This record gives sequence, C-alpha cells and structure tokens, in this order.
Amino acid sequence: MDTRDVSFWLATAGDDLAPRPALDGSTDADVAILGAGLTGLWTAFYLARRDPSLRIVVLEREVAGFGASGRNGAWCAPDLNISMGRLAKLHGEASARAMQQATYDAVDEVGRATAEAGIDAGFHKGGELLVARGPHGVPSLEAAYEEYARFGFGDRYRLLDAAETAARVRIAGAVRGLFTDAAAVVHPGRLVRGLARHVEALGVVIHERSAVTAFRPKDGTGRAALVTDRGEVRAPVIVLAGEAYLSELRPLHRQLVPLWSLIVLTEPVPDDAWAEIGWANREVVASTRLSIDYLSRTEDGRILFGGRGAPYRFGSPIRPEYDRHGPTHERLKGFVREWFPALRDGAFTHEWGGPLGMPRDWHPTMAFDPRTGIATARGYIGHGVSTTNIAGRVLTDLITATPSPLTSLPLVNHRSRNWEIEPFRWIGVRYAQWAVGRLDATAERTGTPPTGRSLAERLAAH
Ligand SMILES: Cc1cc2nc3c(=O)[nH]c(=O)nc-3n(C[C@H](O)[C@H](O)[C@H](O)COP(=O)(O)OP(=O)(O)OC[C@H]3O[C@@H](n4cnc5c(N)ncnc54)[C@H](O)[C@@H]3O)c2cc1C
Repeated sequence: MDTRDVSFWLATAGDDLAPRPALDGSTDADVAILGAGLTGLWTAFYLARRDPSLRIVVLEREVAGFGASGRNGAWCAPDLNISMGRLAKLHGEASARAMQQATYDAVDEVGRATAEAGIDAGFHKGGELLVARGPHGVPSLEAAYEEYARFGFGDRYRLLDAAETAARVRIAGAVRGLFTDAAAVVHPGRLVRGLARHVEALGVVIHERSAVTAFRPKDGTGRAALVTDRGEVRAPVIVLAGEAYLSELRPLHRQLVPLWSLIVLTEPVPDDAWAEIGWANREVVASTRLSIDYLSRTEDGRILFGGRGAPYRFGSPIRPEYDRHGPTHERLKGFVREWFPALRDGAFTHEWGGPLGMPRDWHPTMAFDPRTGIATARGYIGHGVSTTNIAGRVLTDLITATPSPLTSLPLVNHRSRNWEIEPFRWIGVRYAQWAVGRLDATAERTGTPPTGRSLAERLAAH
C-alpha cells in the first residue's frame, strides 16, 4: 500500500513520506525507542532537550506517523478514557484532579512546544462541544458537567441549551450541549511528521522500515535491547511505544486488544452549506452515543466523522485490510447526512481507519522499571493526541530520574491486568460491542436514556 493511502493526514502532511534508512547492523545507544508515533517522538523530543548528549535511536516498522498518530480524528482534547470518578476510586481524589489538570496542560503544551519548535501542526484551540441528539442524551451531558464541577473544574465547562448549541454548530436533533474552550484541533499528519523531522535535527536517529521482532531486558552488561532481523539496538533504556501494535509482541500480547476506529471525510463543503452549519470556531464535536462518534472540521473546510463499529477479530490480529470496513464506513456516511441535512447530497473523498490500543481496565500506563531498563506508555484508546505528550514528559522524568509532579500522576507505573485468553476475549469484546450498539439504538428509538445498570453500560463506563 502507498503510505499516502493510509490517511488523508499523511497524504497532506507536506512531505513525500520517503522512508529513512533502515537499521543495518547492531549498534549501541543510550535510549532505544520502538515506534515513531507521538509517544516515541515526544519521548525523544523531551529526552533530547533534557540531555542533548544522549544517543537516542528510534526504530519504526513503516514510516513515522504510520500508526494511529497519523490517522486520528484530529482532537487534541483534555480527555481520558478513564473517568475522574474511576481514577478517584483507584488512586484518590487529589490524584484524579492532578491527572485532569495534566490533560489541560498537555493541550497547551502541544501548542506551545510545536510553535517553539517551528512545527506547523495546524494547532487551533477552538474548544470541544459534546451534544445530546435527543432527550436520551441529556442526562449523560449533565452527569459529565456535574463530575467536572465536583472535581473543581466546573468553571471550564458550560451547559448549552439548543439555541446556544446551534449557534456553535447546527446539528440536526441537538437539544443540549456541553462546551469547553480547553480543546484544540490539529493536523495529525503535520504534527507527527514535523515532530520526526524536529527530533532528527536535535540529533535523534530514526530508522524506518525497521521492524522490532523482540525485546530483551537489561542483561549483565547493563544493556537492554530492541531486536530486528538486521541487527539490534542495545541501550540501558528501551521504550516500547507501539500502542495497539505492541499486542503483536509475544510478552505483551494480552496487554492490549486492537480495536478499530474508522473515519470518513467529506469533500470541501461549499460555502452555502457552511452558512447553514456554522462551526466557525472549528470545535471538535461528539455526541453522547456509547458506541462513540467524533467529528472535526479540517482547515480546508471538510467534515471528518469518525466512529467505531468494526468487529473485534478472534486472536487480536492486525492486518492492513482491517483499516477499511464497508458497513461501518457506510454507517458513518449516513450519520454525516443525518447530522447535517445540508450535506445530504455531498460526496466523500476519503475513508480510512486504524487500531486503538485497549487495555483490559481502560487505564493508560506510563511506566519505567530501572531494573529491566524497559519503559513504555500505552493504552490511550481514543484519547492519545494530548496524552502522548504527557507520556513523553513523564517518561523523560522517569528515565532521567528527575522527580516531578508528573511522576506521581496516577497513570504512572500502572499495570493493567491481561485480557482473557481466547475464545473468552472474543466472546467478551464482541458481546460488549453488540450490546453498546443496541443500547444506543434503543435510546434513540425511545428517547429514554440507558439505565446505567446493564452489563454493557458497566463495561462502557470507565
Ligand atoms: C482512527 C483513529 C482515530 C483517533 N482519533 C483520535 C483523536 O481524535 N484524538 C485523540 O486524542 N486520539 C485519537 N486516536 C488515538 C490516538 O491517535 C493514539 O492514541 C495515539 O496516536 C497513539 O500514539 P502512539 O505513538 O502511542 O502509537 P502509534 O501512533 O500507533 O505509533 C506506534 C508506531 O509504532 C510502530 N510499530 C509498531 N510495531 C512496531 C514494531 N514491532 N517495530 C517497529 N515499529 C513498530 C507503528 O508502525 C507506529 O508508527 C485515534 C486513533 C485512531 C486509530
């Protein structure tokens, strides 16, 4: 597959995506990183700035940005997949609050760091708008607002009535909104590709078309290793930053389930349709559906509509053909027409998708074990664009043994339990996918919110 076909973002990233030289023979480094996505590159970025003498080598199986970082929905938002309530239960209220604060800071840091580095990532802080498309969605918007308020962040959010919501974005059926100005939209391709070029300028070596087939913890020589077919990189610290793809490495196989998120993109929307829709601030937008949707407006005036729905596959394989799923892509196109009647006859120019890394407990991890020399950050599910920036700074502090408020965040050194063995994994994930879809359909049909008590809702509540 031509790398430009991976996503609209890579096709319009403004470079030719020509692969960098592959690793050719074994070498030593101070830090060896698996994966040139946002986790690996932000880690390289902050490490190289912290200590310019560090020899940092990144091994990337395809090209920088090939994974989720070059395919996502462009949301750079202060959101995690695990709620503050759940974090508070597990780690205490103060930790939950600190984590949420870190997500606001991360959005600003992505804007600040890219501007300072001269990376044109298309960063635009237009805010985030969640909408209730019908009365069934209102209770969950109100509950979200109450949770922010309970943790002291209420002043960052505003509940909107139907007219206030429509004044931002006119969406068919939207009766209520929840808005924060704390989120941004980016050009994911320019962000990740620009970051790769920038870290290279800082002295980081990136080898592309270099697949890591195994990794080893520190041995008697004090060096861990990333192993490829054409040599290994030995270093006191290795960083596993491959998100969903880490499940392909045997020791991590049951740590993450790869679940596909899929996207359709319209042609540039004509001005008269924009006049009807509004959306002048380019807020990132989603509804309250349990089965997930996410929207953004591109710089060149297209609508991106993303969602889930592609079925989990037995045994967790990752294959290029799963990036397209006809029935789900068609459903997403149907949603665009339903949400925006002005686009009823509009055309779509792109569709793509990619795997999210889903931990068993929905809890992301940023970890370093100095005894083994292994660092990792993973399990962001659908909220990695800002969280990977936190990961890069956390891993830098952990690896350089620099105590900081970041290293006491509740995601640090968390260990998720493994997913079940098959066929139980397949049965559980497929059941949850099916049940969540059914709950949405029932809520939309009846106008009544889900009760919050069903097994599927408990699975989706995190
Ligand atoms: C369709 C989609 C939409 C999304 N939308 C959003 C959104 O709008 N906002 C948001 O915040 N998050 C979103 N996400 C999630 C977000 O994009 C990710 O969480 C984030 O990009 C993860 O970054 P990463 O660097 O950890 O992983 P990746 O970007 O997946 O990078 C991992 C890299 O490792 C490489 N690799 C894998 N295995 C090996 C190996 N064995 N050897 C060498 N290299 C290897 C891969 O090729 C890849 O380049 C979305 C994800 C998808 C798939």
